Amino acid sequence: WSSETIAAVTGGNRGIGFEISRQLAVHGLTVILTARDSKVGLEATRVLREGGLNVLFRQLDVLDPSSIKQFSEWVQQNYGGLDILVNNAGVNFNLGSDNSVAHAQTVLATNYYGTRNMIQEMIPLMRPSSGGARIVNLSSRLGRLNGRRNRLEDVTLRQQLADMELLSEQVIDRTVSTFLEQVEDGTWTSAGWPQIFTDYSMSKLAINSYTRLMAKVLSDRPEGHKIFINCYCPGWVKTAMTGYAGNISPEEGADTGVWLALLPDQAVTGKFFAERREINF
Ligand code: NDP
Repeated sequence: WSSETIAAVTGGNRGIGFEISRQLAVHGLTVILTARDSKVGLEATRVLREGGLNVLFRQLDVLDPSSIKQFSEWVQQNYGGLDILVNNAGVNFNLGSDNSVAHAQTVLATNYYGTRNMIQEMIPLMRPSSGGARIVNLSSRLGRLNGRRNRLEDVTLRQQLADMELLSEQVIDRTVSTFLEQVEDGTWTSAGWPQIFTDYSMSKLAINSYTRLMAKVLSDRPEGHKIFINCYCPGWVKTAMTGYAGNISPEEGADTGVWLALLPDQAVTGKFFAERREINF
């Protein structure tokens, strides 16, 4: 890896995203640390640059399509492309007792639609510097399709999301919009959605499904144009999202993401990982 390898990280101002940015830069890459708030993003970048790392800042709010567009244009103009994209930005309001329709909408809009929009916008820019460009999506075991305590109860829907022949963007979007409609009309509680952190779990389930789908869509790209896309669960990490509870540090939570971004085995795509091992969706 060299400074010619360009990686972008969303939500890099703190937590796991900050650590992924730091660790990628320690490997010698050029890292574009992005954040929706320029003040905190610039401060995080300053800290890493003072440590001698090759990190620069760019504002990026994944909720805002025009911000995503401006970012991709800037990457195109300044670097001509991107080798690694880490979709880390995410929100979760389930720590408090303040469950609301607006929170559920923001969680799905950020964690699923925001990530999806980033992937769609950046794919044309991804370049295979070292055997294949890489996209890494931050997910969670809470979004597993077959989690014992936290799964979709609708068997048909589970099958559609699990079966690669049936899975499509329409199926994922219909699942998410049905969930949000039921949140809005108050019927979600009895509709068989995941029991724990329901909106957050749904957002991660959607991004897991989208990761698999995109791996399939991208699989027919010719040699020399490959893009590998995977997702991972960082574990329960001491960050703002968990109220600094959790049992591992952000450094440890970043580890599998960095490993996936730099994985020498280029054939790995469309998989879900935790602690550097493949796990079931
Ligand atoms: P933090 O809350 O510390 O960090 C989340 C980051 O996402 C912040 O930088 C935040 O920016 C950013 N973000 C939120 N919304 C947007 C947006 N619209 N545009 C750009 N950036 C945004 O949490 P973590 O570091 O713990 O979480 C990172 C990822 O890891 C998330 O995707 C999370 O779901 C996932 N994860 C975390 C786990 C954990 O135990 N901590 C477990 C499983 C998954 P800002 O500072 O402006 O809010």
